[in-house]
Amino acid sequence: MQRLIWWLRRDFRLTDNTALTAALTDAASVIPVFILDDTLLKLPRTQGYRTAWLMDALRRFDADLRASGGCLIIRRGDPAEQLVTLCAEADAAGVYFNRDYSGYATKRDQAVRGALTRQGYLVRDFKDLVIHEAAEVTTSTGKGYEVYTRYRNAWSMLPKPDPLPVPTDLSCLIAPADLHSDPLPDPSQFDAAPQPICATGEAEALRRLDYFIDGLAFRYRDQRDLPAVDGTSILSPYLRWGMISPRTCYTASIEAMHAAQHQEQRENVGTWIGELVWREFNYQILARHPHIVRRAFRPVYDNIQWRNDPQLFALWQQGQTGFPIVDAAMRQLNATGWMHNRARMIAASFLVKDLLIDWRWGEGYFMQRLLDGEVANNAGNWQWVAGTGTDASPYFRIFNPTTQSEKFDPTGAYIRHWVPELRAVPDAHIHRPAGMLPMEQAQCGVQIGKDYPAPIVDHAEQREHVMALYGAARQRG
Ligand SMILES: Cc1cc2nc3c(=O)[nH]c(=O)nc-3n(C[C@H](O)[C@H](O)[C@H](O)COP(=O)(O)OP(=O)(O)OC[C@H]3O[C@@H](n4cnc5c(N)ncnc54)[C@H](O)[C@@H]3O)c2cc1C
Repeated sequence: MQRLIWWLRRDFRLTDNTALTAALTDAASVIPVFILDDTLLKLPRTQGYRTAWLMDALRRFDADLRASGGCLIIRRGDPAEQLVTLCAEADAAGVYFNRDYSGYATKRDQAVRGALTRQGYLVRDFKDLVIHEAAEVTTSTGKGYEVYTRYRNAWSMLPKPDPLPVPTDLSCLIAPADLHSDPLPDPSQFDAAPQPICATGEAEALRRLDYFIDGLAFRYRDQRDLPAVDGTSILSPYLRWGMISPRTCYTASIEAMHAAQHQEQRENVGTWIGELVWREFNYQILARHPHIVRRAFRPVYDNIQWRNDPQLFALWQQGQTGFPIVDAAMRQLNATGWMHNRARMIAASFLVKDLLIDWRWGEGYFMQRLLDGEVANNAGNWQWVAGTGTDASPYFRIFNPTTQSEKFDPTGAYIRHWVPELRAVPDAHIHRPAGMLPMEQAQCGVQIGKDYPAPIVDHAEQREHVMALYGAARQRG
């Protein structure tokens, strides 16, 4: 074939990219294209930090391509219309792309396939976002798994594909000089994270993977729950946008297993692999149950009569709840576009079980702020925390934010970093500063209720209320 279009959506990398490798194999030249889809760009969920980060990623990717003589063609509008037009303008034989699994992506891709094939163009799509798709990991009767541990066992038994070799000749990745490219939107149009947790780009993703695999991976199980410690990979934004592939991550972790000097280290790495599996578990749940983005996986929990107090919601968003660990978590999110996993669990549980606010409000706010925000893992995890999902913690298992804080931020280092007004509070009070006497408050320069809020709810009381709400929903059936 003379020429193909490689339609990028969330796979901004040259290394181990299935659609790109196939296109380079099948055609003499390949045109990389990204479509700014107005349907997505206008959603409130995409108005936040992630889109600003994406625009930076597009600029960087274009710069990487220019270094090898090509460039990224940008078009704005409906993907089906734009791709048909582009194929005609560029005299391309068709379009290759990597598959995605949300309800919106599936419908969009069907429309694209239909429009292109009606005009006689070739369309091929590829598995790339995950190591195993939903149809590969099934029970003996062909059903999907709804319990993580069973899914993981089945996932682990399957042979794993190797990462694809890095294309050696990128000179056929071209953009014809007469092919128009739309400008990227002005970055100031989007709300950007004040201090993004990490820079965009494939090179940075690979550097982070190396750094993690060379050391942190061997301590991962023991440190991953401590938000003050640099103990996790912070690869989620890169996996979300495909700046690194899950195959590359998995293969590196297997190499780490081989390099491990003892069983303890192997177990630590194994826990990290388990997280990569959680990611795929959530994708297959979304693929089979697209409704989980908007409704509870277990319909009975759609009956919960949430209190949904907008003022309490605003205080949670701002990190002004008077529960230091929750406030630290929300301020980390607001500043960096990322939040540590343990902190996500605590902050999410607090919203649902202490403030009695619908998990979808929290899910929507996380989507606006997280650089790694994406429907399968955001909705999946929110439902897990709310107890409305698949492999859910039972609804009556309610996190106590203060004991979680004592256990996972024992020295208060995470709190002191993100809630500077509490920096001088002694260890004995850091998890519950409102317990200090006025004299103690004066000694550490913080007046509760003025410099830092008193707790906005009483955990023990809210516990009773939330149990009643869930109980009533279950009775209504
Ligand atoms: C309420 C809530 C919302 C979340 N929303 C998202 C989201 O929108 N996008 C997202 O990628 N993750 C989400 N997570 C999962 C998890 O918090 C992040 O993936 C993790 O914190 C990313 O940090 P890391 O890259 O250092 O992870 P590591 O601990 O180094 O793990 C490696 C990779 O495994 C995957 N992973 C880790 N934990 C989970 C998990 N619990 N579920 C699914 N995949 C996981 C991620 O791709 C991660 O990059 C959410 C968790 C909670 C509790």
